[in-house]
Amino acid sequence: MSEISNINIENEENNEEKVGRNFIEQFIDKDLAEGVYDTVHTRFPPEPNGYLHIGHAKSILLNYGLAKEYGGKFNMRFDDTNPTKEKIEFVNSQLEDIKWLGADWEDRLFFASDYFPKMYEGAVKLIKKGKAYVSDLSADEIKEYRGTLTEPGKKDPGSDRSVEENLALFEDMKNGKFADGEKVLRARIDMASPNMNMRDPVIYRVAHMTHHRTGDTWCIYPMYDFAHPIEDAEEGITHSICTLEFEDHRPLYDWVVRELEYERPPRQIEFAKLYLKNVVTGKRYIKKLVEDGIADGWDDPRLVSISALRRRGYTPESIKMFVDLCGVSKANSVADMAMLEYCIREDLKLKRPRVMAILDPVKLVIDNYPEGEGEMLEAANNLENEELGTRMIPFSRELYIEREDFMIDPPKKYFRLFPGNEVRLMNAYFVKCVSYETDENGEVTVVHCTYDPETKSGSGFNARKVKGTIHWVDASKAAEVEVRLFENIIDEEKGVYNEEDGSINVNPDSRKTVKAFVEPGLLNAKAFESFQFVRNGFYCVDYKDSKEGAPVFNRIVSLKSSFVLPKN
Ligand code: ATP
Ligand code: MG
Repeated sequence: MSEISNINIENEENNEEKVGRNFIEQFIDKDLAEGVYDTVHTRFPPEPNGYLHIGHAKSILLNYGLAKEYGGKFNMRFDDTNPTKEKIEFVNSQLEDIKWLGADWEDRLFFASDYFPKMYEGAVKLIKKGKAYVSDLSADEIKEYRGTLTEPGKKDPGSDRSVEENLALFEDMKNGKFADGEKVLRARIDMASPNMNMRDPVIYRVAHMTHHRTGDTWCIYPMYDFAHPIEDAEEGITHSICTLEFEDHRPLYDWVVRELEYERPPRQIEFAKLYLKNVVTGKRYIKKLVEDGIADGWDDPRLVSISALRRRGYTPESIKMFVDLCGVSKANSVADMAMLEYCIREDLKLKRPRVMAILDPVKLVIDNYPEGEGEMLEAANNLENEELGTRMIPFSRELYIEREDFMIDPPKKYFRLFPGNEVRLMNAYFVKCVSYETDENGEVTVVHCTYDPETKSGSGFNARKVKGTIHWVDASKAAEVEVRLFENIIDEEKGVYNEEDGSINVNPDSRKTVKAFVEPGLLNAKAFESFQFVRNGFYCVDYKDSKEGAPVFNRIVSLKSSFVLPKN
């Protein structure tokens, strides 16, 4: 279960509206009060190396939310400093997802690669200050020279070079005189620092790669720890919010902005990543599921990439509710998928029409109902939200009901149909079961009933009551559609990763496809439209596999839930 972590501020005398603020807000409040900054400027800086997922949604909504809360600004920035894994496809998908979530960057869209000249200048500045030098060590040697947690590192022979020599060599690096890996630029900090990140970190490397935006202009690329603070500082970011694994990199972040003499340098704040139990987050692992063909593309509705959640029928509001419930914390925690499911149910329950669909049909014949066309009945679209209006649905002598709504020999407390019992057909009449037919295997094929015309829904009939209400569709007019029932793509018994070989434990039954009978009006449903199928769950029209007049429905979530909203 996720931790709900609105840390209360220590000082009890603070005014009421400040109580319950998360630790980042408290930090910002303090900065503003002390005049460290006079505004709040945040950013979301993804690497365009995959599709965004639910964890990113947390970061997006947090950064955007803070900018809005404080009347500040929010930048969208691609951290595209590593051309090997980056693609335009990912740039576009990420922008679409962020927009869909409602985070509006207005005209503030930036690319880290636009700062390559600035970063180069910054590196030259460091060299001139004697704060950076060119090294001839190979990657392995650098690792070896770096030492260990118990031993200080060894001096890099390159660190004795003069400023002039370093400037000339760095320029040669830029001009393509060296092969990949032949030379790097290192920051001169402290080879004995207890923080390994401070032991003369590499800040530039040679890499002859074509960048998706800058093409072949550059054959040297900055390392993340050097590039990121420059990107933030150039954009005037005040609070650079990142996840916990960068905590140990903060001294380096501060070193870079200090040595480059930015006037009001940004400040890095770390928070805990969002994890979901038995769910694959992490671009790298989602990518693996996609590449191994286990998932059917990045937007396979069984994944938690934002595009998959959207395809499945999740709404931005439900994701925001989820992220808010999870809270912002410094401590790693794991949230439950059931909480995300709770959020989408809550969001859709009043917003969407409730319609009738039969997923496992058995025929019901009303022996005393006239043969022929039947009639049209009026049904409320959502009894809890009148604004959704009503619709007309066909009714006639032959219907389909769910197989599980009839039993020959029911247990106690079964209030649905069985021989001799009367139930209400939702939006229609009372029917009483008079007989049934079975096939040679004893499987029920037809349920026979009689109806009472006096009991029509909305007629005010109240001479007798029934305990059960079941849903149905008109057999001759119902539309047959494809419905997909999803379970976790991960085998929950085993957990995500196989302990022996690190592979992913896949649930082979995570996608079941059935043919269902639905109200004919649903044939006009458009991509991304969603509905409650009464007594069953929420379903959304698949945007990829549906065709005009032939919608395919994805189950977003069933109505059943064991989740209880945590108090407080
Ligand atoms: P992944 O491992 O999934 O690729 P990442 O951190 O490498 O994640 P980036 O594109 O670098 O992905 O991340 C962009 C922003 O999103 C960063 O600020 C990062 O800290 C944040 N972020 C990534 N994963 C999560 C998560 N699970 N919860 C909260 N924030 C996250
Ligand atoms: Mg990454």
